[in-house]
Amino acid sequence: ANAINRIAAGEVVERPASAVKELVENAIDAGARRIDIAIAQGGKSLIRVTDDGCGIAPDDLALALSRHATSKIDGTDLLNIHTFGFRGEALPSLGAVGRLTITSRAEGFDATEIKVSGGEMGSVKPAALTRGTIVTLQDLFYATPARLKFMRSDRAEVQAISDVVKRLAMAEPFVSFTLRDVSGGEGRVTFRADAQTGDMFDALRGRLANVLGREFADNAVPIDAERDGFHLTGYAALPTYSRGAAVAQFLFVNGRPVRDKVLVGALRGAYMDFLSRDRHPAACLFLDCDPTMVDVNVHPAKSEVRFREAGVARGLIVSAVRHALANAGH
Ligand code: ADP
Ligand code: MG
Repeated sequence: ANAINRIAAGEVVERPASAVKELVENAIDAGARRIDIAIAQGGKSLIRVTDDGCGIAPDDLALALSRHATSKIDGTDLLNIHTFGFRGEALPSLGAVGRLTITSRAEGFDATEIKVSGGEMGSVKPAALTRGTIVTLQDLFYATPARLKFMRSDRAEVQAISDVVKRLAMAEPFVSFTLRDVSGGEGRVTFRADAQTGDMFDALRGRLANVLGREFADNAVPIDAERDGFHLTGYAALPTYSRGAAVAQFLFVNGRPVRDKVLVGALRGAYMDFLSRDRHPAACLFLDCDPTMVDVNVHPAKSEVRFREAGVARGLIVSAVRHALANAGH
């Protein structure tokens, strides 16, 4: 089982940022309103995610670490997935390649803790915690030295982690996020996004300001359009707020952050008349459709999607964004 978990871990956890992604998604799935992330040495020596979500009951703690144990779907309805997680692979994978500690308290239970290192699971023990869950991952890949060798610099990993956190923060504007770098011991907040209020458009504009800056948020036009079962919402920046690098594109399909060629190409197409070649559009767009119209299950990292009607999705983005920019006087 350890060998299988380590092989699976290679798929699910490529680098510290993928571990952060899995842990933060779990916190979101648990209904957390507040998620704090601490990292050290680019996440290589430490990743700690603290949430105020529903917690894990003592009897479920060991189960959460066994392969393909997920509390989120019953296996019969793979198409109707409303949570980030559904494979039950992340925690066992992380426990196979690093030193994992989960401390948790579910409502009506005492707090408990379990450790698993290099796939060796300890027993469930009493712990102290008022609510939610703390997942601590130390020495990622210590159990797989070959992979450890391929780690990039701390700086590059910090950048990738920051990117992941910002993407998930954009997806969940009503949740508060902090990212802290504790490498130096003391701890320095490198990203903070307070929980937003109001309707989805208010909240999203506030979150855009958290992630991309107030000026960007003030110069973005709202998008709200529908076509053949696809619904597109979000904000697109005026072309003058485009970027030299593609760091300001946030695309979501049914709430999941994706990096999909079709969608990125469609966005570029929408800005074609407004933008010089070396500039990238800046936008935050949510494309929602019936789960049967899209396959988000292409890869365990779940950032690619496959549409049944890619042409419709593309056409909607191009026309909706182009219209919004034209109406704003461009
Ligand atoms: P998945 O997310 O695909 O279900 P994971 O391995 O990521 O699989 O997590 C296994 C299970 O552990 C989840 O289904 C959930 O029940 C529980 N779990 C993990 N993280 C948390 C958390 N932060 N809060 C509450 N429950 C959690
Ligand atoms: Mg998960």
